[in-house]
Amino acid sequence: MSNEAFGLDGKVALVTGAGRGLGAAIAEHLGAAGAAVMVTDVDGDAAERQAGALRDAGVRTVAAAHDVTDEAQWEAAIGRAIGDLGGFDVLVNNAGIEVMSLLADCSLEEFQNIHRVNVDGVFLGIKHAIRAMRPGGAAGRGGSIVNLSSVAGLTGYAGLGAYCSSKGAVRLLTKAAAIECGHLDYGVRVNSIHPAVIRTQMGEDVIKGFARLGLAESEEEADSLLQTLQPLGYGEPVDVANAVLYLASDGAKWVTGAELAVDGGATAGR
Ligand code: NAD
Repeated sequence: MSNEAFGLDGKVALVTGAGRGLGAAIAEHLGAAGAAVMVTDVDGDAAERQAGALRDAGVRTVAAAHDVTDEAQWEAAIGRAIGDLGGFDVLVNNAGIEVMSLLADCSLEEFQNIHRVNVDGVFLGIKHAIRAMRPGGAAGRGGSIVNLSSVAGLTGYAGLGAYCSSKGAVRLLTKAAAIECGHLDYGVRVNSIHPAVIRTQMGEDVIKGFARLGLAESEEEADSLLQTLQPLGYGEPVDVANAVLYLASDGAKWVTGAELAVDGGATAGR
């Protein structure tokens, strides 16, 4: 096998929540590997900024304000990827939110809001990507869907009940979609990635949350607790971006329904 199998020349990728954090790193990485990249985020200005950075680096890109909970916005975003960039081969369902609270204090509204973004958003992405990518679809050349779950979709954590529930749902939705697309010969692969804590805005909020909820005495203690839970310490956005690139590429053509832990060993002993 040549390394060309891990390149994305000629492919078009759409990355949600790509205005900052892991999504921004993923968009950059896929672009550097040769893909044209549609950068979307509920924060349209952040998406524009990130697309500008990609354009400066020579990547063919478009940006859109795109709330993943809105079905019409999904149809519009995918339509633009196909219309403006000439296809649709890779979807990275990266957008997600995390709000920490103890279950006894978590309002139904908060629980449902996390699921709306993390689960409904991924469902809508999978649905419309399959429609566009499968034979006869508007893009019609198969593809790869990569869903950002979490170590919190593999194992439980105090203070993260709603988030764990949502990310566990992403894990099994991924597997169901993988089997369905495989059986129906759609040429669409679907996999999930399970990062441990990376110090993006969300990662910092988790460290603060453990202290705020009394699950650690202080932010310093939460920080050292997390480092103990992750044998290799904190990861970097590029660690997740590398994993996405692999699953997006033809190098992973026989990989579907897989759950890839990118977690510094956090779940190795579970
Ligand atoms: P982040 O909070 O830094 O960035 C999330 C991005 O998603 C933001 O740009 C935000 O505007 C966007 N977003 C939020 N709601 C949206 C919506 N409704 N529609 C579209 N975009 C929306 O988070 P991150 O750390 O970059 O996390 C990215 C993904 O990785 C998430 O799904 C998260 O659950 C997952 N993850 C992160 C970590 C971590 O430690 N950082 C660990 C495991 C999994």
